[in-house]
Amino acid sequence: FVPGDVAYLDSLNAGQRRAVEHGSSTPQAGPLLVIAGAGSGKTNTLAHRVAHLIVNGTDPRRILLLTFSRRAAAEMIRRVERIATRVLGVGSGAITDSLTWAGTFHGIGARLLREYAHHIGLDPAFTIHDREDSADLMNLVRHELTFSETKSRFPTKGTCLAVYSRVVNSQADLEEILQSVFPWCAMWSAELRNLFGAYVEAKQKQNVLDYDDLLLYWAGMMAEPMIAQRVSSQFDHVMVDEYQDTNRLQAAILLAMRPEGRGLTVVGDDAQSIYSFRAASVRNILDFPTTFDPPAEIVTLDQNYRSTQPILAAANAVIEQATERFTKNLWSERVSEAKPNLVTVKDEADQVRYIASSVLEAREAGTPLKQQAVLFRTSSHSGPLEIELTRRNIPFVKFGGLKFLDAAHVKDLLAVMRWAENPRDRVAGFRVLQLMPGIGPTTAGRILDVIEASTNAAWALSEVPPPSKAGQHWTDLVTLVSRLSGRETGWPLELAHARHWYEPLMEDRYEDAATRTADIVQLEQIASGYPNREKFLTELALDPPDATSGQAGVPMRDEDYLILSTIHSAKGQEWKSVHVLNVVDGCIPSDLGTGSTQELEEERRLLYVAMTRAKDELHLLVPQRFYVTQQTRNGDRHLYAQRTRFIPRTMMVLFEDFFWPPVASVRDGALPASPVVVDLGAKMRGMW
Ligand code: ATP
Ligand code: MG
Repeated sequence: FVPGDVAYLDSLNAGQRRAVEHGSSTPQAGPLLVIAGAGSGKTNTLAHRVAHLIVNGTDPRRILLLTFSRRAAAEMIRRVERIATRVLGVGSGAITDSLTWAGTFHGIGARLLREYAHHIGLDPAFTIHDREDSADLMNLVRHELTFSETKSRFPTKGTCLAVYSRVVNSQADLEEILQSVFPWCAMWSAELRNLFGAYVEAKQKQNVLDYDDLLLYWAGMMAEPMIAQRVSSQFDHVMVDEYQDTNRLQAAILLAMRPEGRGLTVVGDDAQSIYSFRAASVRNILDFPTTFDPPAEIVTLDQNYRSTQPILAAANAVIEQATERFTKNLWSERVSEAKPNLVTVKDEADQVRYIASSVLEAREAGTPLKQQAVLFRTSSHSGPLEIELTRRNIPFVKFGGLKFLDAAHVKDLLAVMRWAENPRDRVAGFRVLQLMPGIGPTTAGRILDVIEASTNAAWALSEVPPPSKAGQHWTDLVTLVSRLSGRETGWPLELAHARHWYEPLMEDRYEDAATRTADIVQLEQIASGYPNREKFLTELALDPPDATSGQAGVPMRDEDYLILSTIHSAKGQEWKSVHVLNVVDGCIPSDLGTGSTQELEEERRLLYVAMTRAKDELHLLVPQRFYVTQQTRNGDRHLYAQRTRFIPRTMMVLFEDFFWPPVASVRDGALPASPVVVDLGAKMRGMW
């Protein structure tokens, strides 16, 4: 490698190159914003920038790279590796191994908090509650305060958690959030304030952090000048992809990490902001340029390299109707005759049939399944499709939807592991103890109080008088906990030990214990991919692995499979062929929200995100009968659905619009027009 040789930048256009080389000539680069539409190469530019920095001597361990998912981080590392290896000629894996600070805000937060725990009064052995655990804890606290018993129509645990989370992430006042987002809970503001105070206390007592805490504590840590100095001096560069979907708390963290914006790069697209329900604020990206003095350098890009021109034209038309938008329309050099398909089908059954045959057709034509995706609004919408794909032996992977992790028996076993990791975690403790016969909430609560008061959980447990009906299960649990907390057996063998304790209980409880055992074996397989219990629990809570159609866990690397994903999780990705389910009013836009203009605008952006994932082929599906959960006197019902309002009649020229299956063919069992279907006479004669 000859210094100054930048041939690897030749593939970039002028804007991209300016972003990559920004600040190269100065010791410390000023803040940089790349703001541009979908597929314009923002992520690619970021990868080149990281590679460029490394090639020019920046230590990869001093680069903090924040992405929107763990998958996105892995993909980014892969791209950087590819570019840098070509230039530096170092062995493959060298960069990957040293880009250690690439991940999500939550993942990086968890790591930093463990590292600095002692300085901020945290016990580094904290466990992380996923949303469901958090809701369970919220529920426990709700009961303790007797809100659920004495106050009729008090918000559910899920709503309480949503309000709490929204307040934390938007750094706003409770009253303000109640008024603007949860008006129907506003009358409970005093009780909610009480509840949240008690919830925070409970978490601290139990040494658990929820998702929001990972950001909140990180931000809090950064408000202490001495620690902030230490943490931020660990990095020369902080880079963020998908910046439009960060919230106020994340922006505050970034600002504290890079107070003057030096070495700070953010990229994003305001037209793709789709996470306001998690308190993301598009203001972060729009206000970025004026946050710093001197102000940030801004790079905009306008060429799309992903989609063919007809697909881009349709996507542009959808987003053009948006009321407010910073990024401009894109153009593409990728010519094609094929317009995107707008396919009307009778119902959801025909919808999945269309997809299965279209997917197979594309594979025949040379597009591997991996290059094809089916996107939907909500995870539950893919149910019928999963059944059809399984029936037709089409392998698939569903992003972020490892359903078996939600199954009771898997959660039971995970609770055992979490309790061993942190005996003060009451949600885990409650779950484990109540698995045994004769132990209900009261007994469990008493036992947990004893453990909480003690310094050694294993010892405390052995001091508790054995609950009479628990018998051998109790004795075995005491042994198990002492083994696990003493880390006497190596990882992942610990999980097998826990299974031996759990299996007899599971067999008493469930008829289908055999299939459940299979799930647990799969969990052990997943566990073997992690170096230790802590890492396993942290990553499973933060970003569960993807679900597969097969039994054997993660599919083989060389196996081909179709991608199923929610639109939200598909962010930043691309496939040759993309199908979007249920492009109807009631789904996109959803009829579950309040219908405010802001919400509608976000729904439009959601459709834009979905459409711009496609490179060569796009199919939007419109089932005429779509199951709508609309409470009527007769319960839920099927409604006749309308094509989404985001594609009005005037836009139809941009699509190939047709009914499937073709109307002329056999429908509803009707006989074809030809008079003779089968000549039975000839058939009878032929038998002799
Ligand atoms: P999104 O907004 O969806 O996240 P993006 O702006 O991050 O999109 P990328 O994913 O970086 O876009 O790039 C889209 C596609 O365009 C990728 O396949 C990438 O390799 C390709 N691409 C980007 N820049 C160029 C370029 N200068 N020349 C050729 N291909 C490019
Ligand atoms: Mg991107």
